[in-house]
Amino acid sequence: MAEPVYDPKLEIRKLPPSVTRELGRLLDFADYWKDLMAIIPKQLSSTTFVADVKPDNLPKYNSEHFKIIEQAGSEPNKSCTEILIQEWGTSGKIRANLGILRYLLVKAELFQAADYVSKLINQPPPPRPVNGPARAITTNLPGRVDRHLEEIERDLDKINYPEIAINKIRKKSDETVALPAQGIPKIVISEVDNNEGRDFNAPVVIQKEKPKEPVNHVQNSDVMPNFSVLLQESEVKNEISSVNLPNISEILNSLDSISDNNDQSTSNSFTPAFSQILNNSSSLIESNAPIPPLSQLLSDQTGDSILEGSLPDLDVLNLNENISSSNIIPNLSLLNTQSDQASGSVQIYDSDSKNSSGSSNKCPSPLPNLSLNTELPHFRYCELEHATNNFSDTPFKSIEDEGRFLGKGAFGSVFLATGLAHEFLAVKKIFLENVEVVNEDDQVTKQFKNEVEFLSKYKHKNLVSLLGYSCDGPTYCLVYEYVPGGTLCDILKENPQKLPWQQRLKISIGTAEAIAYLHTAFSTPIIHRDIKSANILLDGDNNPKLGDFGIIKLLPNQKTDTYTAPFGTSAYMSPECLRGDISIKLDTYSFGVVLVELMTSLPPIDTKRQGIDLVTYMLDKCEEDIEPILDRTIGSWEHDNINFAEKLFKLALKCLEDNKKKRPEMVQVVDELRQIVQLLD
Ligand code: ATP
Ligand code: MG
Repeated sequence: MAEPVYDPKLEIRKLPPSVTRELGRLLDFADYWKDLMAIIPKQLSSTTFVADVKPDNLPKYNSEHFKIIEQAGSEPNKSCTEILIQEWGTSGKIRANLGILRYLLVKAELFQAADYVSKLINQPPPPRPVNGPARAITTNLPGRVDRHLEEIERDLDKINYPEIAINKIRKKSDETVALPAQGIPKIVISEVDNNEGRDFNAPVVIQKEKPKEPVNHVQNSDVMPNFSVLLQESEVKNEISSVNLPNISEILNSLDSISDNNDQSTSNSFTPAFSQILNNSSSLIESNAPIPPLSQLLSDQTGDSILEGSLPDLDVLNLNENISSSNIIPNLSLLNTQSDQASGSVQIYDSDSKNSSGSSNKCPSPLPNLSLNTELPHFRYCELEHATNNFSDTPFKSIEDEGRFLGKGAFGSVFLATGLAHEFLAVKKIFLENVEVVNEDDQVTKQFKNEVEFLSKYKHKNLVSLLGYSCDGPTYCLVYEYVPGGTLCDILKENPQKLPWQQRLKISIGTAEAIAYLHTAFSTPIIHRDIKSANILLDGDNNPKLGDFGIIKLLPNQKTDTYTAPFGTSAYMSPECLRGDISIKLDTYSFGVVLVELMTSLPPIDTKRQGIDLVTYMLDKCEEDIEPILDRTIGSWEHDNINFAEKLFKLALKCLEDNKKKRPEMVQVVDELRQIVQLLD
């Protein structure tokens, strides 16, 4: 049936589903919708279809919006293009129409979609450029291409696929369908200053060598090659020279003597660092002693007695930058991963005693093989396990004790890690519910990748620094600087006296600076979305450090409690945010709640209180000033006859305005706080 002809002025929000579906089919492929989205200007004209981004008409969408659409579109049966059409078609004073859509599709050189829209509005297909990838190509395909394809499909149907492959596909699709559908988030455009290059503070330096290659080479047992095959292949290609290949029998024979000499060996199941063996025994490598084939060692399932605890950590070969031939040595970490029997549990340190070179601990990983574009170091999961006493869930009290557990949030548990760097670190182990289905296109993985690649750029003295990551174990981990003073939330609850009012002013200004930095440091603002006293950590001098600025907020299937929800925490959520309207102003609102907490030492949520959330409670109790609920046990809040609580209260009220347009941006909040703090001098 012929497509009806539409008026070019028809608003795209009014398009029938069959049309948006077809556009989705054309533009979801290879993420072409992003090319379109990138050139949509903020303002459209009601008199022309021309719509160009110009200095006075900036792009409508920023990278945060791209991410939102990408995430929403990754749900089953969702199309990013359709979400974009719905979002763009229903926002702005002048609504997008078919003529404008065609104009932009041509501009983005998305000719297949442009042809389709042209046909809809009864216009000729747009001319192709003479050169470049979008130029027209003449093909010699037979006239009835579709018939040709049908034939191919029929041939393919005749092929018998192995049962295992079919089951795998079935399993995957069952699991995918089981995922909960998510609503389409509303995108809100917010104005921000572009203060690129502001002078912000120095990062924490961590001394860890970055592996040359992504560490998680091959972890999935499905695709794990047999080591002997690897060796054979290498031999055929003559790629492994006898100098580079370790002489395993000699190493095994010499373990005892090395073990005796090594201070850090603690048990019979000593596992030497391979680098150490190489250093200690160049003679071993040149020796002519008989070499037991590695494949035999590995395939010997009864070989516990031979192998247990005695297989060297061959992985070190791959990490050791001194071994320039690393590219011709097969991935020896496979040895450790493949052989259950080979995995001892004792950790030893490599020759410079700086980083723990993962022992033969097994790191079986169902995670996809990620290649991350970041300067941050990758930590092997085994290293993290060792550094956290096997993620000991006993609360951390002192370094002498076993306990390393620091706390638990909606997205993971946090553990103190020692021995990885000169300073202590905090490791957040992300909860992954259905880890078997995690793959590279998965939302959690995309988000993890994003966080690691993106957040390492953000450095500020009042932000908890992200220092590393791990993706070669059973779950993802993020490694942060350790902030020893606890969370503001806990201190206000358990020990409010520790924070006199002057100190609280300092905390408010530091926190505000960190948020303003996130909003303005780069051209794209990063919205924290989860500002709350539980995410403000205090260092030894009670300086605030804001954490979780971008931590995985979109994990599906999270078990959350009343205090924490994946999209922020309800007591801190601005009214428009509850409707899905996300902008930098939602951070201003949440900061207003923190100001009230600082003034009152009251919990943000108290189910026994009339006015369960703090803002409702404050508005009930305080008409003119904060006096009825001000915490006066921590000082007078006065200096030189100036009532600082009154000033903070006024600022908090502005931050807590229902109408987001009336709320100040965080840079303005910082200015106001600076003026207030100056009055203390
Ligand atoms: P949410 O998941 O909503 O962020 P949360 O902030 O309570 O909730 P986490 O961020 O997982 O949860 O942190 C849990 C606890 O771990 C915190 O309350 C804090 O006590 C501790 N913690 C987190 N990060 C660090 C760190 N870098 N240094 C020291 N302790 C930390
Ligand atoms: Mg947190």
